[in-house]
Amino acid sequence: MDRKKPKGLVYTVKDLCRVCYTCVRECPVKAIKIIDGQAEVVQERCIACGNCTRVCKQGAKVYVRSADRVRQLLDSGEETFALLAPSYAAEFAEIPDSRILVGMLVRLGFSRVYEVGMGADLVSRAYETLYDQNPGRAFISSDCPAIVSFVEKYYPGLTGSMAPLVSPMVATARYVRSVEGSAPRLVFIGPCIAKKGESDEVDEVITFEEVREMLSEARIRPGRTVPADFAPPLAWKGAGFPVNRGMLQCMDLPGNHVEQSVIVAEGRVHFQEAIREFASGSLETMHLQLLCCEGCIMGPGTSRGGNKFVRRKRVLDHLQRRLEESGEEHCRESGRKLDLSARFAVDDQRLADPSEDEITKVLQEMGKFSPNDHLDCGACGYDTCRAHAVAISQGLAEVDMC
Ligand code: SF4
Ligand code: SF4
Repeated sequence: MDRKKPKGLVYTVKDLCRVCYTCVRECPVKAIKIIDGQAEVVQERCIACGNCTRVCKQGAKVYVRSADRVRQLLDSGEETFALLAPSYAAEFAEIPDSRILVGMLVRLGFSRVYEVGMGADLVSRAYETLYDQNPGRAFISSDCPAIVSFVEKYYPGLTGSMAPLVSPMVATARYVRSVEGSAPRLVFIGPCIAKKGESDEVDEVITFEEVREMLSEARIRPGRTVPADFAPPLAWKGAGFPVNRGMLQCMDLPGNHVEQSVIVAEGRVHFQEAIREFASGSLETMHLQLLCCEGCIMGPGTSRGGNKFVRRKRVLDHLQRRLEESGEEHCRESGRKLDLSARFAVDDQRLADPSEDEITKVLQEMGKFSPNDHLDCGACGYDTCRAHAVAISQGLAEVDMC
């Protein structure tokens, strides 16, 4: 079964959409277009951050599900390995012994389960080398696929500043292929929607939400599960990758280098601010380490309603255990042999700004003839009446949203 990257990862269930404009307001790239009174995702513009799926109270924004294809893989008899994202420690709080979780995935049909935190260790070593060998250059981290997509689409001029390195998911896949050959099928299990479109080097990507549904359907519960071990090597510092400053803390940077040369920003507002300032040149040679979510522990494929700091604590507790029982030898050894390089491509989705005359004309169609008419109430999903008028000119919005 060949993996075909899904074209669109997030879409609208039209019958459920009540056109409240919440998703328009919360989309960081204005990839949601109101057309004939429906809030549709413009696939070319979408970076698959999953934000709209979280904020839509009607459940009208959903992401493509891959569980059926994973079930087919597991039923096919082909050897299939799970690559488990390090945020599992935050997600599966009710299963404090991770070996029980591994046992449950084995019961589901996976032959082996690898920790992607191990790939995070490999990637962190590669970042150390990249920073070290390129003094005077600044890089934007490329481990979050939503950030990569954002740069490719909205700051195409910065594509060359992306760190030319793969994500922990792909690093783990390359490691597994290097020791197991190309035959086993690889399924990434994690908190992320954007990962579903990231790479052909894994066969499928499912979220924690999806794997919970699969376990529930198969009636696989922790209580009746025999523990099983992760396939070695275990994660080391990479176990802490999915929290705030996770990558930075995985890296071994000299002295005050950390504070002086790396900016960490997470969440849909802060990552955009950081990229904007980077693009303006005002950050000089500061590297950016960015995550689209508030850490992957809060990714859109995690269970709803999780508390950020409780999740963070669980990951840090797990990290502590890994630091006591694992080591970095595997990183040094495997990292030397593996090619962790990546390339990124421009996919310019910027829209031309309308002229002042066009904006004025649209504002008048909206009934805005003087500054007093500009309520800037935000009800339409745009911060200002002018921003709404610009979106109408660009074909993203309609006059009667006002
Ligand atoms: S997934 Fe993110 S980028 Fe795509 S439409 Fe939803 S909020 Fe916008
Ligand atoms: S922060 Fe993590 S979960 Fe969120 S989009 Fe990026 S990689 Fe995916």
